[in-house]
Amino acid sequence: MNTEKLKLVIVGHVDHGKSSLIGRLLFDTDSIAPDKMAELKKVSKKAGKDMEFAFLLDHLQEEREQGITIDTTQTFFKSDVREFVIIDAPGHVEFVKNMVTGASQAEAAILIIDANENIQEQTKRHAFILSMLGIDQIVVVINKMDVVDFKESVYNEISQNITEFFKTLNLKANCVIPISALLGDNVASSSGNMAWYDGKTVLQVLNTLTTNKSEIHKPCILPIQDVYKIGDKRIAVGRLETGSIKEGMEITVYPTVEKTTVKTIEKFLEDSRVSVAGDSTGITTTDPVFLERGSVICSPSNEIRLTVSFKASVFWMNKTSLKAGEKVLLRCTTQEMLCEVESISRKLNSSTLEYIDNNMDTLNNLEVGEVVFKFKKNIVVARFKDIKALGRFVLVKDNNISAGGIITDIN
Ligand code: GDP
Repeated sequence: MNTEKLKLVIVGHVDHGKSSLIGRLLFDTDSIAPDKMAELKKVSKKAGKDMEFAFLLDHLQEEREQGITIDTTQTFFKSDVREFVIIDAPGHVEFVKNMVTGASQAEAAILIIDANENIQEQTKRHAFILSMLGIDQIVVVINKMDVVDFKESVYNEISQNITEFFKTLNLKANCVIPISALLGDNVASSSGNMAWYDGKTVLQVLNTLTTNKSEIHKPCILPIQDVYKIGDKRIAVGRLETGSIKEGMEITVYPTVEKTTVKTIEKFLEDSRVSVAGDSTGITTTDPVFLERGSVICSPSNEIRLTVSFKASVFWMNKTSLKAGEKVLLRCTTQEMLCEVESISRKLNSSTLEYIDNNMDTLNNLEVGEVVFKFKKNIVVARFKDIKALGRFVLVKDNNISAGGIITDIN
């Protein structure tokens, strides 16, 4: 059993069968508690249906709504190989905000298309969002194949259309699977109704996807919050974002790119020679390297970059718009730096998910856009999908946190 949970989002046009697919996945993997199962049967029968999996999700939704406000909802299921968590949010704005600010990011996505309805505007918008998020594991499912008599020709046509559309967004689907969420064809078991399809089932593909490495197995990243002088010791302190750090370890200090070795690990009231991701820790070094708030200590990694420019997906949340050419304060870990907004493109309204192709020099409240930032000095960053801590940031305008963003590309 793989110990990492794979974080998954399921997107697609309303009514194309998102809830039914989730319900079916839960059902086929025995992830529904017996009492829920009994209730599902009862409610389905009342509605004159054999089994309406969409009801299961409605039921879960109701349970959540009775709870305190939660920004995201999570549904769990597991296969023989690993556990999965499906991330969702009550509305488009919350969903997009969570994803674009990196608050809750998925590692993979399922895009669902109704075989009878083909690709709709919303299907395209969802694909567009996936491209903004840099999610590169995408499973396309063509649902309700039972409604089109399980015809291969329908599958071929939609499959070709979506593959072509994906190309325009620089996206690539891992696979395109014909399914019936209602009947269970090709969800967890192969379909006898579609002998012409010899590819994997949804669950088989999900099992092959990769999760982000756990934080502890990543390169060491220690953003420095402060440097204290105690006697003749200079102790740099911060919270270890990823990896581990121990005495004798070789490290590089950014942005000065000085190499040195960890002399001691200094922890409050603790005699320890090693710190791991999540720990607040202090260190001293064998050489008198330049360290200050905003320095980042790392172990060698080719994912960490020093740059004066990067591209990011940004979610703007301030009534005063962000304008191309303006300067804003950017915070990434303990780094705080003034940056210039070089350009804004690929804008999207987060509540309607519509593209916006006017006023391209501004990003308004609740809009998402692709923004290129320029810096006067080097900043230490990474692509969000490589190292989360160095790949997400906030923007501060007029003393307010006005945006969250994730880095998608570094020049
Ligand atoms: P959502 O809005 O994307 O979550 O879609 P739902 O899961 O609520 O499904 C919308 C409707 O399509 C419901 O009435 C489902 O019963 C129906 N549906 C979903 N999947 C299938 C399928 O594979 N075959 C058929 N015939 N109906 C389906």
